[in-house]
Amino acid sequence: MNTVRDYDFSGKKAIVRVDFNVPLDDHFNVTDDTRIRAAAPTIKTILEKGGSAILMSHLGRPKNGPEDKFSLKHIVTKVSEHLGVNVKFVSDCIGEDVEAEANNLKAGEVLLLDNLRFYKEETNGDNAFAEKLAKLADCYVNDAFGTAHRAHASTTIIAKFFPKDKMFGLLLAGELESIEKAIKTGKAPLTAIMGGSKVSSKIQIITQLLDKVDNLIIGGGMGYTFSKAKGGKIGNSIVEDDFLETALNVLKEAEEKGVNIYLPVDSLIADDFSNDANTKVASAGEIPDGWEGLDCGPESRKVFGSVIEQSGTVLWNGPVGVFEMETFGAGTKAIAESVVRATENGAFTLIGGGDSVAAINKYGLADQVSYISTGGGALLELLEGKVLPGVDAVLN
Ligand code: AMP
Repeated sequence: MNTVRDYDFSGKKAIVRVDFNVPLDDHFNVTDDTRIRAAAPTIKTILEKGGSAILMSHLGRPKNGPEDKFSLKHIVTKVSEHLGVNVKFVSDCIGEDVEAEANNLKAGEVLLLDNLRFYKEETNGDNAFAEKLAKLADCYVNDAFGTAHRAHASTTIIAKFFPKDKMFGLLLAGELESIEKAIKTGKAPLTAIMGGSKVSSKIQIITQLLDKVDNLIIGGGMGYTFSKAKGGKIGNSIVEDDFLETALNVLKEAEEKGVNIYLPVDSLIADDFSNDANTKVASAGEIPDGWEGLDCGPESRKVFGSVIEQSGTVLWNGPVGVFEMETFGAGTKAIAESVVRATENGAFTLIGGGDSVAAINKYGLADQVSYISTGGGALLELLEGKVLPGVDAVLN
């Protein structure tokens, strides 16, 4: 894989697609700088190797052209802090002013362009717009994993203007290598934990995973569609009746392929979708009417924990309960702790998808697993077996 490590940047200007779509408070302070921190090693590498960097990103969802609240000017100080250089800023991303600033850029300097999405041409994947961006630099670096599944001008189309001088940043390369390690070259047994609310949003991934994993733990809301499909009583638990047959097919296919499927054997059930609801534990398939399953129960936690802790590789996507409410967080917390123990035992553990990352952060265990993916949609599409346009454009 061609990365910034392999390229000679001396005297070269690199245009770098980063994901600086960071949250801002009402006073435009960056409230979570994870994404800026994550892109810093790539930019520093370019500078250390004698190049200069032109950074481009989107921020939020501007509707019709420039909007002050979505300007990247708000993050210049934060980016400067992380890079240890005074980052220059230009209040546009194409045009004469931008070209003049780019021309003046010297080795070791960094220029941040304003929000790409002030132009609808960005998300439309417009060729002429991509060409204008490309004109600013000698080489192209894609380090934005979070948008690699989009064929936007700056993530995909621009690459063709650099047939030889295009490469991945360290963050994006690290994401691809980690996912490859988790699903292709990892140590057996490989266990995937799939949680979340709906079968419908995860079914493609589950189907793909059946060809790769040894164990598949299915938890969260989607477990109840499986439970009902097997003839269980699920009370008022979340269910997708259109997916009952799909669920049965998954179970059948798993058996044919020798994949062990682990569904919850018990649930923490509640008489209301609320932190203050009355709760009790029910066996799987025995949830009375008027009650709903909002977390996996104590026996399930033991079974899941034992499978996870004996794994060589673990992939976790989605909470196994409504962990946002304290009352229903024990299952997800137990999964997080088991993933940490698996890591301590020598397993490669990868966590991805907004909610499971939020969960591992909530329990303060993020630094005790092997890899946390920064990509939501991009990760899911990779796991679904799709080729990401942003990755393909750099590779081919
Ligand atoms: P997803 O976006 O499909 O990954 O789903 C994540 C959401 O699933 C989280 O907000 C959880 O609160 C929710 N969830 C997990 N378990 C359940 C459950 N048993 N019933 C309802 N929602 C759930």
